[in-house]
This record gives sequence, C-alpha cells and structure tokens, in this order.
Amino acid sequence: MEITVRHGDSLSYYSQLFTISLPLIIDSNPKLHLDQLPIGQKIIIPGFMVKDYQIQQNDTISTIAQKQNLPLDGLYLVNPEINPDHLQTGQTIHIPQRITERVVQGKQNYDYRVLKKDLKRLQQIYPFIRVSAIGQSVLGREIPEVRIGNGDKKIHYNGSFHANEWITTAVLLTCLNDYLLSLTNQTPMGGVETPRLYTETSLSLVPMVNPDGVNLVLHGLPDNERWRTRVLELNQGSLDFTGWKANINGVDLNDQFPANWEGERARNQKQPGPRDYGGKKPLTEPEAIAMAELTRQRDFSKVLAFHTQGEEMYWGFENLEPPESETIVQEFSRVSGYAPVKNIESYAGYKDWFIQEWRRPGFTIELGNGVNPLPLEQFDKIQQQALGIFLAGLCM
Ligand SMILES: [Zn+2]
Repeated sequence: MEITVRHGDSLSYYSQLFTISLPLIIDSNPKLHLDQLPIGQKIIIPGFMVKDYQIQQNDTISTIAQKQNLPLDGLYLVNPEINPDHLQTGQTIHIPQRITERVVQGKQNYDYRVLKKDLKRLQQIYPFIRVSAIGQSVLGREIPEVRIGNGDKKIHYNGSFHANEWITTAVLLTCLNDYLLSLTNQTPMGGVETPRLYTETSLSLVPMVNPDGVNLVLHGLPDNERWRTRVLELNQGSLDFTGWKANINGVDLNDQFPANWEGERARNQKQPGPRDYGGKKPLTEPEAIAMAELTRQRDFSKVLAFHTQGEEMYWGFENLEPPESETIVQEFSRVSGYAPVKNIESYAGYKDWFIQEWRRPGFTIELGNGVNPLPLEQFDKIQQQALGIFLAGLCM
C-alpha cells in the first residue's frame, strides 16, 4: 500500500499508526533517505492493500474508521484529497486493509509458473523481501532466490534439487508466506516472536533449484523438438516422468558437488538418466554451479536442503560437521518428529559439500513419507512439520 508523506510525518509515526515494525517499513523503501522525508514522497507500507469503499448515507469519516477498525489518520493518509465535511453518498474512497491471509496456495501442482507468480505477488505486498536470480537452468529459466531479514546470521534453505520432489517448493513458499504474515501482523509463530528473527537473521531461500526437472515431472516433455527426443531417450522411451529426479540433461544435481564425488560415482549410474548420475565431473550443470557460486559468495552459517521423503534428517559428513550440528538436529527432531540420521552411504550432495568446505552445520531434510512425488493429500501435515524446522533453523 502506498501513502504520501505530509508535513510532520515520520516513518516511526507510520509504524505506530499501522502497527508495522519500523525495520519492515525501512526495508520496503530502500531508496529513501531517512534523515528527512520530503513532503509528497510516496512511501510503501508493507502488509496492507487498499480496497475501495462507497460512501453510504449517514457515513462520516470517523464512523467509517470505527467500523473498519482503523485509526482515523490511516484513512486520511490513503485519501489525501478527501474533504471530511463534504462526503457524498456513492463517492468512492480508499480503505487500508491489513492482509491476514496467505496468498500462496501450496496445495496444487506447484510448477515454475506458479512459483514466479507467487513471488511476484509476495514482493508486491511485502517489498522488504528481495527477489533475484542466482543463475539460469539448462532451458534458460531463471532460478529465483528470495532474501528476507537484515540480521548478521546468514541462513540458507533450498528445495526441489530433485525434480519429483517439487512439493518441497510448495512447502517452502507456504512457510515463507506464514513468516511474512507473522511479521506484518505481529502475531507469534509457533510461540516465536518473529520481529526479533527479522533483525537477527538473513534468510536466503532458493525454493526451486531444478525448474526444468520440476516442469518435466508436472507437464511432460518440453516444447523444443531436440529436447523432446533427447529426454525421451534418457527416459527409455517412457512418457511417465514421475521417477525423474535429475535436471533436463539427465544429471542428478545433488550428486554434482565436489565432496567425495568419486565415491558417489563408484556406486551410481555411469550414464545420464532420470536419477543418480553425477555428471562427467563435479559442477558441470548450470543449476549446481549457481548454487555453488551463491554459497561461496554468502558466508552462510547454516544450510538446509529440503527433499522428500522418509521423515529423516541427515546431518553428518565424514565427521567434518561441527558439534552444534547434533544440538540443532535434535531441536529439529523435537519440533517435527523426524529422525536424525548422522551418516548414510551417499556423497557429493550439496549439504555434504557445505559441511566439508565450511565445517558448519548442513542438513538434508527428508519431508514426508511415501513414494515420490508425494501426493498433495500429505501437504498440510508436511507443511506443519516443515514449519517447525523452518523456524527452528532461524532460531538456533
Ligand atoms: Zn532428494
């Protein structure tokens, strides 16, 4: 919602008036010089939208404010032209409306288009989040990253490294939406006061590492004739892509990282295909390269990679993980009921590489139980469990 600065206004006044914390207003207006607000300057108030209202007989500006449960000055701010002594029946005025419902509908076939649409909408309502691209997929889709918070503790979450685990994207976007609602409505989330999280942490979220793979699983072959032939060949002529984990080149992106990559190769596929082929060498695929570059640039203190399925969490890699990894995973287990597993015979994953290179906590979270792609009937249950982990990851 946009308002216009008047004489004597300040950001802290807006913060009080709309009960939106000051850091959220400041970060929603990054181009602003805080020392002086020029009169006439447009300011965005996050977490609100403006709806139209038609003046009815006997309405006064204060009865409208009362009925809508709004401070009177909030009405004046979005109706700078209004003359309270000359309201006309039928005249349309603006009403600020606090947003209290999710815009993300996670319980659907959550493909790349839905993701882009939801990110755009969230960015409009909550402009204190920053959305950018970390790189492009093989088919040229931009891989979005969302950043939220202005704290020193840098944390990273990602989803859909594996194509047929696309429900992880829907779960992460829903958790993000809940976090944003909690911040702007100042309602605790799972007992946690989130404004503190916003100023203490910076969350980096890459909700769909493998957009080409996700769209292949959800919609079948790509349009381009050359790719259709190639992908069909990799899938042994079958049009059923429910077992597809890889990117569109048939490379498993979570087998691409230089962390005992040879060990993974020895036990895995030697040719491109739907799953478990780690490429000719580490980091050949643009999606894996983009993730590696992001991670090298950002100095994350902790990373969580969301996968399905098994209701388990992998937290070790060759004893290189720090002692706090165990403390953290126990908290994740407490809030989700998922089982901590230190080591499995698997290498070259993103979290393996993160632990190896930085000796900091890295986790693979296996959401839900069943056969991938997990059915949407599980969505609400999985989302609840994931939300506990999402929050604990920010708190710990
Ligand atoms: Zn996976």
